[in-house]
Amino acid sequence: MKVLKFGGTSVGSAMRIKEVAKLINDGEKKIVVLSAMSGTTNSLVEISDLLKRKQDKQAAEKIDTLKQKYTAVVEELLNTEALKAKAHTLVEATFDHLASFTGQECGLKEENDILAQGELISTNFMCYYLTEQGIKNAWLPALDYMRTDEKAEPDMPFITDNIIAHLAQHPEADIYITQGFICKNIAGEIDNLQRGGSDYTATILGAAVEAEEIQIWTDIDGMHNNDPRFVEGTKPIAHLSYDEAAELAYFGAKILHPTCVRPAKKAQVPVKLLNTMEPKAEGTTINGDVEKGRVAAIAAKDDITAIKIKSGRMLLAHGFLHKVFGIFDDYHTPIDMITTSEVGVSLTIDDHKNLDAIVSALDLWGDVTVDKNQVIICIAGDFTPENICFANKVTEALKHLPVRMISYGGSNYNISVLIDKEYKKEALNLLSKMFF
Ligand code: ASP
Ligand code: MG
Repeated sequence: MKVLKFGGTSVGSAMRIKEVAKLINDGEKKIVVLSAMSGTTNSLVEISDLLKRKQDKQAAEKIDTLKQKYTAVVEELLNTEALKAKAHTLVEATFDHLASFTGQECGLKEENDILAQGELISTNFMCYYLTEQGIKNAWLPALDYMRTDEKAEPDMPFITDNIIAHLAQHPEADIYITQGFICKNIAGEIDNLQRGGSDYTATILGAAVEAEEIQIWTDIDGMHNNDPRFVEGTKPIAHLSYDEAAELAYFGAKILHPTCVRPAKKAQVPVKLLNTMEPKAEGTTINGDVEKGRVAAIAAKDDITAIKIKSGRMLLAHGFLHKVFGIFDDYHTPIDMITTSEVGVSLTIDDHKNLDAIVSALDLWGDVTVDKNQVIICIAGDFTPENICFANKVTEALKHLPVRMISYGGSNYNISVLIDKEYKKEALNLLSKMFF
C-alpha cells in the first residue's frame, strides 16, 4: 500500500480536487491524506484570534466569507442533486459549529477545534466527488485513530492498531481518504500536529501500515538545491538521504514539515516529493542511501535570535553549560545552534516567547549579548571529516560576509552558518555559485 499526501494548493479549488481525483484513481489501493483547501487554515486561525479577542462581529463576518467560498466549491465540484445536498448540509453544519463559538470563551481547546474543520471539509468533499465518479472510497476519521501521547508525540502503537482496524472495516474501498494535521491529544481533546503537519500525518501512517512508499504531492517539482525565492536557477534534487532531508526541512526548506522524516526513517519507508501540477516530473526521492562526496542543498531559517554568554566562571569549571542549558529547559525553549569557547557560549533560538525571562536568568551567569534578526543557513551534504574540501569551501564562499557563528561536526551531513538577515540573499547566492 502507498500513502499519498496532497497539500492545500493541490486541493485548493473544485478543479484541483477533480485533478487529484484523476491522479489517485489508478486502480491501486492507497491511503490519501489531504490538507485543508489552501488559505482555509489561515482563515481559521484568524477567526479564532478574533474570537479570543472578543471581536465577535468581525469573526462572524470572516466565518460568513469562508462559508460562501465553500458553498461555491460545492456547486462547481458536484453534479448530482443528492451529493450536492449532502455537501451543502456538511457546509451548513460546519459553519453553524464555527458560529457557535461566537459569544463564548475561546481558548486553546476551542481554537484547535476550529482549526480542525478545514481538513474535515476537504476530505469529505473528495469522498463525495469520488463517489459521484463511481470510485470506491472510504473516509477515515483521523480524530479516531491519530493520537498523541503525554509528550505530544505520536502514539505509534495506538495509531497502528486503530488505522489497521479502520482499514479492515472497508475492504471494498480502493481509495481511503483521510485528514492530515488533526489528531486527539492524551486528554482526548481535538489537537493538531502543528502547522504544515499533514506531511507528518502521511509519514506516521506510512510507518504504521508499513507502506511501500510515501508520496508528498505539492506544487513544486521536489526539494530544490537552494531557496527559489532568493536564488535564480535552483534545481530539484533527485535524491536525498533521510538525514539530509531532515536537516533541510528543519532549517527552512518549506516543502516538508520538520519532523515528518523521522517516522519514515524509522520504518525505512522511502518518501517521494512530487508535483501535482507536473505529475510526470521525477521529483525528489528520500531514502536511506547516502551519497558520498557531494553537497546536496542549501536552506535558510529566518527570525533566529543569537544569545552569547561570556563568563570567567566557565574557565576550567564544570557544570557551567549544564546551568545555562537548564535555563532554556525551564522555559521550554529549544536551542538550534551552539558554539563554545573556553570563556563563553553562543547559541540560537527561534522561539522568542520567553526571551526576556531567559536573558534575566542568564545574567546571573555572565555578560549576555542578544542579536535578533539572524538567519541560519544550513548546507546539507557529505560533511564527514574525510571529505576535507567542503567545510573550507563554505568559509571561502562567505569570506567577505560577517559570519556570526559556524557549527560543524554536530552531524556528518551538515554545516550551519549564522549571519544577519541583511546578508541572507547574498550568502545563499554565493554558496550556490560555489557548490552548484
Ligand atoms: N492545513 C494545515 C496548515 O495549513 C496543515 C497542512 O496543510 O499541512 O498548516
Ligand atoms: Mg506543507
